Amino acid sequence: MPKTVHIIGAGISGLSAAVRLANAGYSVHVHEATQQAGGRCRSYFDAATNLTIDNGNHLLLSGNRHALAYAKSIGTEAGLVGPKSAQFPFVDLKTGQRWLLDLGDSRLPLWVFDQGRRVPDTGILDYLGLAPLVWAAAGKTVGDTIRCEGTLYRRLVQPLLLAALNVDPPVGSAGLAGAIVRETLLAGGQACRPLIARDGLSAILIEPAVKLLQEKGASVSLGHELREFATSGDRVTGLKFGSDEIALGADDAIVTAVPPRAAANLLPGLKTPTKFRAIVNAHFRFDPPRDAPSILGVVGGLVEWLFAFPQRLSVTISAGDRLVDTPREELAEAIWRDVCKAAGVAGELPPWQIVRERRATFEATPEQNALRPQAATSFKNLFLAGDWTDTGLPATIEGSVRSGDRAADLVLAMR
Ligand SMILES: Cc1cc2nc3c(=O)[nH]c(=O)nc-3n(C[C@H](O)[C@H](O)[C@H](O)COP(=O)(O)OP(=O)(O)OC[C@H]3O[C@@H](n4cnc5c(N)ncnc54)[C@H](O)[C@@H]3O)c2cc1C
Repeated sequence: MPKTVHIIGAGISGLSAAVRLANAGYSVHVHEATQQAGGRCRSYFDAATNLTIDNGNHLLLSGNRHALAYAKSIGTEAGLVGPKSAQFPFVDLKTGQRWLLDLGDSRLPLWVFDQGRRVPDTGILDYLGLAPLVWAAAGKTVGDTIRCEGTLYRRLVQPLLLAALNVDPPVGSAGLAGAIVRETLLAGGQACRPLIARDGLSAILIEPAVKLLQEKGASVSLGHELREFATSGDRVTGLKFGSDEIALGADDAIVTAVPPRAAANLLPGLKTPTKFRAIVNAHFRFDPPRDAPSILGVVGGLVEWLFAFPQRLSVTISAGDRLVDTPREELAEAIWRDVCKAAGVAGELPPWQIVRERRATFEATPEQNALRPQAATSFKNLFLAGDWTDTGLPATIEGSVRSGDRAADLVLAMR
């Protein structure tokens, strides 16, 4: 049994591995390059809105088993909140039409058979048309596999897959889309209840993990960037940081949970995804209307999802690469116009912030998906975690936690 495990990177993947290993009695040391844990899933104080905001709105679903188990393990499952059942209000900004997709709370997708609960103007046959996605081969695109047009596509499949894959669905990996459909729509409403960290990503998913680790005697070193591995044969023997080096004992293990580019720098020759996609978030300091749903699907506009938080309306736009060079003020104005229509509010542009995460996720195409490595490496004591490793899911919190759990399990299985 290794005495000590070093975790490189304090994003969700690294923290989930760290928590699992600390709970198993290992001596855990987490090394994070930046001054804040959380990576792409973090909160910070924003002076423009005078609010603590998240780098991006993160949506979980009740079927995200590993993510929920992680939250439970750090004592914050109750901080992931959402409506009582899997109901998704939608608005079409082009037509003004509003509808409620009501997936109910069954383990089976029974909602498909109920005209009052499924997407308006769709029939059973439209849903059966999605079946090829469920068994799609890894090398196929969504566009090769299902018809990417029509009412069901525009009102449900496109918004769901765009959010999950962060690429225009027709070019997205059918294999990854199939995993999403199997774990959400096909798993019935019980797996689809939307959940958000209403008090902030860091407060619910990051800081409690760091606190728990510290209480268990683990160290979490911020501003501690790993620069290089020292190796000998098939083992990593040391960790070289800028100012210090750590020599590893014969039984020590390492979990690397850094983004793909950093991993490729540390491990020359490692195959990793090379293309990424942006996500744009806009935050407006504005009290949501009393009856505003916590999450509203928006089609026919620039905005895709509208979230209502205390004192704040917040917007997500996936595959946002086309918007990364738009002047910020112009973008804020355009998004606010959509928000007013979608939320039924009016007024001048309130205090706002735009957050553009340029490398939010790897590009979920078949080509990039094929570049994702397994957790085991050619070094016997080094394992990979990260949403971009071969989790079978797109880059999500659920995939991150699965990757962290798997890397931790490989450490636990070391002789
Ligand atoms: C705007 C946005 C919106 C999103 N929305 C959703 C959503 O709605 N639902 C969902 O499930 N997922 C969503 N995601 C995806 C989710 O945030 C990621 O899948 C997850 O946070 C990735 O975690 P990770 O630990 O794998 O990687 P990261 O969060 O990237 O963590 C890697 C960590 O390693 C550190 N690091 C890098 N190099 C080194 C080094 N050499 N030494 C030490 N440390 C290093 C980094 O600083 C970082 O903290 C979204 C992402 C973004 C950006």
